[in-house]
Amino acid sequence: MSKVALITGASRGIGRSIALELAKSGISIAINYNSSEKQAKEVLDQIKGLNQNANIYKADVSNEVEVSEMIHKIESDFGRIDIAVNNAGISQIGLFTDMTTKDRDRMIGVNLIGAMNISKAVLPGMIHIKHGNIINISSMWGEAGASCEVVYSAAKAGLIGFTKALAKEVGPSGIRVNCVSPGVIDTDMNSELSKADMKELLDEIPLDRIGTPKDIAKAVKFLVSDRASYITGQVLSVNGGIII
Ligand code: NAP
Repeated sequence: MSKVALITGASRGIGRSIALELAKSGISIAINYNSSEKQAKEVLDQIKGLNQNANIYKADVSNEVEVSEMIHKIESDFGRIDIAVNNAGISQIGLFTDMTTKDRDRMIGVNLIGAMNISKAVLPGMIHIKHGNIINISSMWGEAGASCEVVYSAAKAGLIGFTKALAKEVGPSGIRVNCVSPGVIDTDMNSELSKADMKELLDEIPLDRIGTPKDIAKAVKFLVSDRASYITGQVLSVNGGIII
């Protein structure tokens, strides 16, 4: 019986690449999206083209009720969830003092509470089957802190603390929890950055290239595999060696 993975924010960017990479290794995929239904359906078609089982599920990860309903639906469709990748995220550039309370709460709600909502909903099933893998997608800014992305950095730093603590709590149940911390990756999320900003970042990357979604997907694939069976509570930085 193939494993089942839920990838949040799998309609675009890094999440889409993770979904495809895990599908290629024979894992059934639950594709979560919030607003990009057309793109989510494209991912579904690509996975079906690989002769792999998949389905799409709409839910805003920051909404506990929507998440709970989605998890019940996935468990009923696939039987269980072995892997949850908390990838859904949003970013916003601007001064901390200019950020509205609503935008601040949304940033924390999607990037941090979203991962907590998903993890809380999948854990009873994982504890029941005595195994599971949770991967949280943080950011180099969660490790280092970024000016003009203060709340984003705080949410991503929170994910690192969440990873380390949850790994200790659920390790005895056979569940591993790890974090992947991407550097600068070529997705829609960075489309707001000017060419000059991207050049400035590139100059700080020893491997001399911007990362691809596949770079992150390969790290996730490793962490959920048996090759990483003794790794939990860790942060794997996938950033080309960027000096932060
Ligand atoms: P992206 O291209 O903007 O894609 C974001 C994804 O998250 C989309 O699939 C989007 O789905 C989904 N999403 C957003 N809000 C959601 C919500 N409330 N509920 C469910 N899904 C939601 O971004 P990306 O670059 O692939 O980023 C993926 C993750 O990597 C994020 O957590 C991001 O913070 C992190 N990261 C990215 C970089 C980078 O340089 N790109 C660096 C470090 C960390 P819909 O369009 O369907 O709403």
